[in-house]
Amino acid sequence: EFSSRELTESLLARIQRFDGELNSFITVTGDEALAAADAADSTRARGEAGPLNGLPLALKDIFCTQGVRTSCGSRMLDNFVSPYNATLVEKLATAGTVCLGKTNMDEFAMGSSNENSYYGPVKNPWDLSAVPGGSSGGSAAAVAASLVPAALGTDTGGSVRQPAAFCGITGLKPTYGRVSRYGMVAYASSLDQAGPMARTAEDCALLLGAIAGHDPRDSTSVARGVPNYRAELDASLSGLKIGLPKEYFGDGLDPAVATAVREAIAVYESLGASVREVSLPHTELAIPAYYVIAPAEASSNLSRFDGVRFGHRCENPTDLIDLYKRSRAEGFGEEVKRRILIGTHTLSEGFFDAYYKKAQQVRRLIRQDFLDAFEEVDVLMGPAAPTPAFDLGANKDPVSMYLQDIYTIAINLAGIPGISVPAGFANDRPIGLQVLGPHFAEQHLLNVAHQFQ
Ligand code: GLN
Repeated sequence: EFSSRELTESLLARIQRFDGELNSFITVTGDEALAAADAADSTRARGEAGPLNGLPLALKDIFCTQGVRTSCGSRMLDNFVSPYNATLVEKLATAGTVCLGKTNMDEFAMGSSNENSYYGPVKNPWDLSAVPGGSSGGSAAAVAASLVPAALGTDTGGSVRQPAAFCGITGLKPTYGRVSRYGMVAYASSLDQAGPMARTAEDCALLLGAIAGHDPRDSTSVARGVPNYRAELDASLSGLKIGLPKEYFGDGLDPAVATAVREAIAVYESLGASVREVSLPHTELAIPAYYVIAPAEASSNLSRFDGVRFGHRCENPTDLIDLYKRSRAEGFGEEVKRRILIGTHTLSEGFFDAYYKKAQQVRRLIRQDFLDAFEEVDVLMGPAAPTPAFDLGANKDPVSMYLQDIYTIAINLAGIPGISVPAGFANDRPIGLQVLGPHFAEQHLLNVAHQFQ
């Protein structure tokens, strides 16, 4: 049996050896990790260890960590050290986990390839010429390369599930409100949700149990009991009703991905599930609605980065306006500026009704599509992404990058949970089967994912 210190030392050595190339970490916290490992070992010696005690993990660099830089992948926060811990960070520490560091990500979680990071792109451990997906690409790559057994990510429009799919691991986006957002740098507050990324559904179940629950510091967190997410993992799937949204198998889906996903679904039929086609008729409106709502919320959330209170400040400002302008011009990258411009425009007088209000109406229709589908079936299944991981530098056009999110973002608009399960390979790169369920169906999604594994 290993001590947590031995495990932590060996993983730190692995990070040292391989992460120069992968670039999955922005900050490695070796000393803090060894101290936490020693504390976990003492807890175990006293016979007080819970199931997560001593478990090494990594946190996306969007979660505030007291005393350790939280960059959010941005030059703007390159010098930012939070004075407090996010609730999720606090809960994981209380459970005895050992944080090895903060992982790379697209700047402010805007992106689908991790190429928007101020700290440089992350490489996919399965194929170093491929992207790991984004925005939680560092967390996915670190788990896939066995630098850590588990990591935390955030998912606003697919950022846990799509990188999990690209890196061949399991990633869960919980129901909106299931996990506290307190201390998580806000991108689009009505969509953001933290979730676990690990090798298996069982590991995700363990992590979700530790991070879920009501938090008085996040008014959108839901006051609802946290079940034992491992309790139903082995439940039989006989009689499970699976819906395949026909819109998720149409044009634009790579045929090799479609084949692998259909093979995975056939496994469920062999376990006693039945499959039928369903329709989510407003699917094609999800990307346009999301790319109005998310940038609108982002433009508002990111207005706090003004060069005065947080983060980057320009040299020798001539006056206050110059300070704002140059601090923001220097601190934010290109994609972040694009989103701020879009969001500011759609929220401005004269355009608000045409864009933002309309998008919120569409959002309601999208949510209703899912509620209607779940009247007929227990879960929905489809691909997590339209293609396997693409090559670094291959996807330069922002709109084609936005289309990556076609199967992931609708559920954030609806608030429902989804999990990406490793389901084989297409063109020698991993792909993910996505399983969606009604609000608060995490336990069932984990059961369904576990039975495949
Ligand atoms: N790719 C989407 C975006 O850029 C989703 C990102 C996310 O889930 N954080 O907004």
